[in-house]
Amino acid sequence: MWEYSRVDHLTPQAVCFFCNRPLRALKGIVISDGAQEAYAGPNCAKRMLGAPEERLLDVARLALLVVSEEDPDVEPGTREDLHSDPQSGSRRSSLASTTAVERPSLPALDRVIQYLRLRYEFMQEFHLHKSTLLTEAYEAYRRTGQLDEATRKRVAGMIRNAGEQKTVFSEANIKHCIGLNHWLHEAVQQTQPERRDFLEAMVAKLHRRWTLTPGQLNGINSWGIGLRKRLHTFPHLDAHIFDGVHVPDFMSSASNGQNTR
Ligand SMILES: [Zn+2]
Repeated sequence: MWEYSRVDHLTPQAVCFFCNRPLRALKGIVISDGAQEAYAGPNCAKRMLGAPEERLLDVARLALLVVSEEDPDVEPGTREDLHSDPQSGSRRSSLASTTAVERPSLPALDRVIQYLRLRYEFMQEFHLHKSTLLTEAYEAYRRTGQLDEATRKRVAGMIRNAGEQKTVFSEANIKHCIGLNHWLHEAVQQTQPERRDFLEAMVAKLHRRWTLTPGQLNGINSWGIGLRKRLHTFPHLDAHIFDGVHVPDFMSSASNGQNTR
């Protein structure tokens, strides 16, 4: 059975194990069946292997969370459906389900530390990635390698609330932000400087609001048609990753970036 192994340098002739298209990039996904290894494009890997386990602080795995399971480049007839199918995101609503009557228990120490590190080590470009509570906790963690129980509880409570209220600060949403940020930077790098305006505008919006609309994500997918023809390592994205995420007023109002918390 094939499974994700890692992201690594590709050989110049590397082709996708599932569709045989050339990968033409420096790095890509390596899969393994325990005995042998092969390479795969991100859409094919997601479609054939499903979502990866989210190993701690592995941006390549977080990046796969925002890859769509369908691959319109394999079945070109389905591309139009993306613009007229608001239902396809509904399966995601189960991700952060809060239907349980009892509140979930507070996240354990390793999840709290993972959250802090994601916010402080992978989201520096995002507006408001710091807060007073989180900075205090992260600095204590950096100094001592630990968190005292009182601090852990305060941060864990914040994480749980964000998850229950499905705000942009939830664990699920910051992972999606980091994953999408990874692909947008990849797209910018692969694009001539004079043709980057649209992508850079999407990067700026993501950094300001910690979400993009399905329309904006579909725009990136349309924009990426040419890029995906050249690079099987650039994916078609799931346009519904941010469905149902609540953007607080201080982030959704004025676009001047002057707001503070
Ligand atoms: Zn493929």
